[in-house]
Amino acid sequence: MTLSRNELIRYSRQLVIPELGPVGQEKLKAAKVAVIGAGGLGTLVLGYLAGAGAGEIGVFDFGPLELSNLHRQLIYRTGDIGKLKTELAKQRLLEINPDIKVNANEGILTAENIRGALEGYDYIADCTDNFITRAAINKACLELGKTYVYGAVYQFEGQLAVFDPRGGPCLGCLVPDVESMENQACAEAGVMGPAAGAVASMQALEVLKLILGFENLKGKFAMLDFRLADFTVIELKKREDCPACGAKARLDKRFINSLAVEFITPEELKARLDCAGLPRVLDLRYAWEHDLAHIKGDAWVDFDELIKNGAGFQPDDELVVYCKGQSKSTTAFRALREKGFKNIYVLKGGIDAWAEKIEKGMLRY
Ligand SMILES: [Zn+2]
Repeated sequence: MTLSRNELIRYSRQLVIPELGPVGQEKLKAAKVAVIGAGGLGTLVLGYLAGAGAGEIGVFDFGPLELSNLHRQLIYRTGDIGKLKTELAKQRLLEINPDIKVNANEGILTAENIRGALEGYDYIADCTDNFITRAAINKACLELGKTYVYGAVYQFEGQLAVFDPRGGPCLGCLVPDVESMENQACAEAGVMGPAAGAVASMQALEVLKLILGFENLKGKFAMLDFRLADFTVIELKKREDCPACGAKARLDKRFINSLAVEFITPEELKARLDCAGLPRVLDLRYAWEHDLAHIKGDAWVDFDELIKNGAGFQPDDELVVYCKGQSKSTTAFRALREKGFKNIYVLKGGIDAWAEKIEKGMLRY
């Protein structure tokens, strides 16, 4: 794989780094990287990988761009709101670098499709915001023998790790109790844009270093507190009792079975609400968001209580859960499925989609 004159000029600022050079650049050109999540972390990881010349990039996400994404997801534009993020990201990356290949993969990764989705890639960057998907990525990477770069951001804090399935500790070794983490959906827990940017930059750098064979964070876990630029790196140990890679790996049913989410569209919900026998519609957002705008006839429920004990609802109840987008509602769907709730649906696109498609005069925020 030789480099064209144009490529030599495009990458000249990194080519002059002695450890990289044309040989390193050719490694980058041959590399295939999957980036899961095209949000606060993913967009910037994607941008840096495209800029650096990673030869083939897979973008994995679902749903449209929302106004509230723009404070941190810098590859998108205000005029793009409502369009699919995967398609937007593909278009933008090819504008950054037309010499690379970009695959837009629209849709939720599930236990059924995740292996097939990732097997064509050499490296996986986990830029998601929920622990169930992370656990599924971890399992797929263990099975496929792929190195996995994990990034997470919460308010002013970040986390970074590189998991090598060939003998190294995995995500399950770091967080054996996935249920304790399940409720943390960063998209709705708040994040400072530059904190996401800082973690994303470091995450992209780890991917590039892996491709180039440079020293990297393999087997280590970095805790980043951006309030005082306080960074701590610890060595991870493989746990014998790890639920994913340990001797008695359960490859947790919890990790896997509850991945496929059942959606109801705003149009379908409207039709159901107009008829008799309507489902209970539950607003999972914060109370102040409920006060701003909500779906008529719904009920506000405490998200944490619903996840923990079902908030008084019974497994036979027909429930539609919604939040601003789909993050909290998807988490609730999975938690309730674990508790045996069968008739639960996630409002596709959340209240934003409802306001766009059904109740056009509704206050948007
Ligand atoms: Zn493990």
